[in-house]
Amino acid sequence: MAMSSDNTSAVNRRISARIGAIAESATLAVDAKAKALMAAGRPVIGFGAGEPDFATPEHIVEAAVAAARDPKWHKYSPTPGLPALRQAIVDVTARDNGVTIAAEQVLVTNGGKQALFNAFASIIDDGDEVLLPSPYWTTYPESIALAGGVSVVVPTDETVGYRTNPAQLDEFVTDRTKALVFVSPSNPTGAVYSPAEIEAIGQWAKQRGIWVISDEIYQHLVYGDTEFASILSLVPDLADTCILVNGVAKTYAMTGWRVGWMIAPADVTKAATNLQSHSTSNVSNVSQVAALAALTGGLDDVLRMRGAFDVRRQLMVGMLNDIPGVVCPTPEGAFYAYPKVTDLLGIEIDGVVSNSSAQLAAFILERAEVAVVPGEAFGTPGYMRLSYALGDDDIRTGLTRMKDLLTKR
Ligand code: PLP
Repeated sequence: MAMSSDNTSAVNRRISARIGAIAESATLAVDAKAKALMAAGRPVIGFGAGEPDFATPEHIVEAAVAAARDPKWHKYSPTPGLPALRQAIVDVTARDNGVTIAAEQVLVTNGGKQALFNAFASIIDDGDEVLLPSPYWTTYPESIALAGGVSVVVPTDETVGYRTNPAQLDEFVTDRTKALVFVSPSNPTGAVYSPAEIEAIGQWAKQRGIWVISDEIYQHLVYGDTEFASILSLVPDLADTCILVNGVAKTYAMTGWRVGWMIAPADVTKAATNLQSHSTSNVSNVSQVAALAALTGGLDDVLRMRGAFDVRRQLMVGMLNDIPGVVCPTPEGAFYAYPKVTDLLGIEIDGVVSNSSAQLAAFILERAEVAVVPGEAFGTPGYMRLSYALGDDDIRTGLTRMKDLLTKR
């Protein structure tokens, strides 16, 4: 019998339909291309990274070194997390989010990413719809799809500060809507909802029996008079249908340590723990001990990093808006700027016409040696994301190069 190269039938398919449908992470793809150019000796400035440029604070590293030397941490530990870390999460959630929980509601995960994956997998059935305001972080739709869910995109733009509201959500809700993804401060836009807006959305979800998955991983990175508020503190009645996602990555410059957590009603946490017990088990003990040192060590380091990010934010937004054709609202949180660049599309710049933000980003990388992530990665073509988690001099050099290129009309 002739071998078929058909990849559509279950028998002949090498990669499963579910995994085969996952898109490559566009943010990581930009990063890879930028790194390849750097390896080839090109002086690329990368605005693509989604992580603080600071080193993890010393006391956290020291705690991890001591843990690595202690044989007691060389063994498996409980899947949902070290008891002391779960308790520390209870404590910071009360202190910083204004939400009282029990330790059994906490599941410590391999980063916020696994918390999201576990959360969707635990409550979504095939065909369930999940409301996903755009621009959205690239991982959400993939994580929702892996759980069998269907993302229903709720579009927002710079004219509304990249924020949705109950009236708009009503246009997208159906009888299959199971959950809403809520992210404030936002990646990729840096938008932060006001407490009144958050409360309105929380009440809206409560009235309709819709779950809220609230990603609060950037909660400590808000600037000026902007306040962070947790949806669960403003609408405590949501407790039975709300999952909070968080982690140490962005707050303590710990992206590589891979510690996050989800906080859910106890039955959901139990289900998610069962899932994790068969996939990854406990998070590395050394990393958990480091996370414990971070959570119990106060917020001095994050305040220092936040001060630096704030200066860079203002520098970046000012320089971006100085480029004709770029419109950049001032982000109030996280460490990203999200300008609109549609006025730069379809026109000749230095002899080249870019017809999409993806083409424009490739052009900027090639000609100005500056890496940005095109809006296509976040469900909104016509925009670009630039991280300001890099040094002031690099920000200045990168944006000057961009301006020099983009004004060659
Ligand atoms: N949530 C948002 C909005 C993010 O931007 C990220 C990382 O970029 C995460 C969650 C996950 O972070 P980690 O898995 O590194 O803890």
